[in-house]
Amino acid sequence: MRTFRDRILAKAKRVLLSNSLILILFKLWNIKKEQFTCPICRYQGPFVEMHPETGIRKHAACPKCSSLERHRLQFLVIDNLAERFDLSKMSILHFAPEKFLQDYFKKLFKQYTSADLVMKNVDYQANLLNLPFEDDTYDFVFASHVLEHIKDDTRALSEIYRILRPNGIAVLPVPIIAYKTVEYPQPNPYESNHVRSTGPDYFEKYSLYFNKVETFDSNDFSIKYQIFTYEDRACFPTVNMPLRPAMAGDKHLDIVPVCFV
Ligand SMILES: [Zn+2]
Repeated sequence: MRTFRDRILAKAKRVLLSNSLILILFKLWNIKKEQFTCPICRYQGPFVEMHPETGIRKHAACPKCSSLERHRLQFLVIDNLAERFDLSKMSILHFAPEKFLQDYFKKLFKQYTSADLVMKNVDYQANLLNLPFEDDTYDFVFASHVLEHIKDDTRALSEIYRILRPNGIAVLPVPIIAYKTVEYPQPNPYESNHVRSTGPDYFEKYSLYFNKVETFDSNDFSIKYQIFTYEDRACFPTVNMPLRPAMAGDKHLDIVPVCFV
């Protein structure tokens, strides 16, 4: 398992790379590596590999803005929605807000509200199981990698549905780390307290609440954005992650579901 020092060093490495001189040196040093484009900050060059507890993740982080594979895919999906819907007339609730998406959403939507259960710098400290908003308050809800932490996810989904206006949209991605969803009896502290390993079938649950669920995946956009997860998942299950299933290969699809009221 990675130590606290390893995490700090990894974080420092990413922060340091945001310095433009170091960024140029990083690009020169890795000139022979695969080159990508970050759709968020428009950086072009090699991406940084990550070393999470689950192993090495190749081409994971943009060295300029620190976006990960999932953030880049989500950004491209939002871009697609912005072409089809007038987001400038919509109000958004951004749950568990990611900083770089936060700035983007503030420019894109008419009204921006952030919320989280524990984060301090948000407009509302709120529980997704009992949101402090009237029915039909928002046009758009974005909550990425949140539902895999919530046992009573059907309650959370009904709350999201309740606060959305007619014709509202919810973007609710979870990590795709299984072929078929496996529920855990309790949160696993070795997996960031996830209560399940989620697979593509998980989104069938969304159809119980929403009229239509449209999914985008890593194959829907150019490979230049590097929106696949390169990770060896054959090692599972492990002692600390006994219910997490194995997956073959080291290149995995990510999926972003878009739910329509
Ligand atoms: Zn970037």
